Amino acid sequence: AQKRYADLRDLPAEDRNGTRISLVMNAGLLADLPSLQNSGAEGVGLFRTELQFLTRSRVPRRDELAQLYKRVMDAAQGKPVKFRTLDIGSDKVLPYMKPQDEPNPAMGWRAIRVGLDKPGVLRMQLQALIRAANGRPLEVMFPFIACPSEFHAGRDALLRQRDREAALGRPVPECLKIGAMLETPSLGFAPDSFYQTCDFISIGGNDLKQFFFAADRENERVRRRYDTLDVSFLTFLERIIVRCQATNTVLSFCGEDAGRPVEALTFAALGLRTLSMRPASIGPIKHLIRRADLAELRQIVQRARNEGQQSVRNAVTTYLAHL
Ligand code: PEP
Ligand code: MG
Repeated sequence: AQKRYADLRDLPAEDRNGTRISLVMNAGLLADLPSLQNSGAEGVGLFRTELQFLTRSRVPRRDELAQLYKRVMDAAQGKPVKFRTLDIGSDKVLPYMKPQDEPNPAMGWRAIRVGLDKPGVLRMQLQALIRAANGRPLEVMFPFIACPSEFHAGRDALLRQRDREAALGRPVPECLKIGAMLETPSLGFAPDSFYQTCDFISIGGNDLKQFFFAADRENERVRRRYDTLDVSFLTFLERIIVRCQATNTVLSFCGEDAGRPVEALTFAALGLRTLSMRPASIGPIKHLIRRADLAELRQIVQRARNEGQQSVRNAVTTYLAHL
């Protein structure tokens, strides 16, 4: 099977009718980057920036981060990398941060909330990203955006850093794309004006699912209790897809489900065009997409919904088994 996937590496993830899906990978270390070429991923859809903060005994310095981000961009050799700003709090606690003693850390002081309340660290990270790009295109996304004003504040901070660097005579990205991670149901209901101000939206399915079903992703007892292919969740995803299509917002999905065959194919059938996953999943997912007819699968999904099934999992699994 490995050999078969290697043969697919340089072929597009295109279904039988030529519908093209962009498969990109998740990363968090410089050491992940060789997988970009080996897996055939078209880029890095999610670069998690927490690890460099978690593995030190103090906040990393701007120049250390800039050096690392530069090496990541160098290693990507022109393929796009979406850097996510620091997502700490919740399950990722910094050893040098005062413990917060929160009853519900996943819904607590985390991610962009910390970034906006302690703007020094966010500013430093944004500066490091701009310096690392050194004039090359740059894509930045902010985690755990729950309302438009948080995205606007993050974006303004980034644009201010860019202008500051420019005023100092340093090169700034000629092309800067700024996105939001959609990880709370609230953002799915934000007004169209929000979608229009985002260059792209990336669904953080792990968090989105946890908040959609109110089921803690860290709690073994409940974390597998609800099905991603439950019709209610798919209806919500579809709503986001349609709104992104209507506002011309690039949409991707970057939770663990994007790398699972039945889930990935269902998302593609619903209209998602970019899936970000661990590198090892790229080959298997591409193999299935190339055999599938996504329009036909879409009809199968709709039929299961019309029949009143709670989940489309059985219908999609049966379709994939016959490919
Ligand atoms: C997610 O929530 O789906 C996501 C991609 O971010 P993380 O898993 O880092 O929370
Ligand atoms: Mg998340």
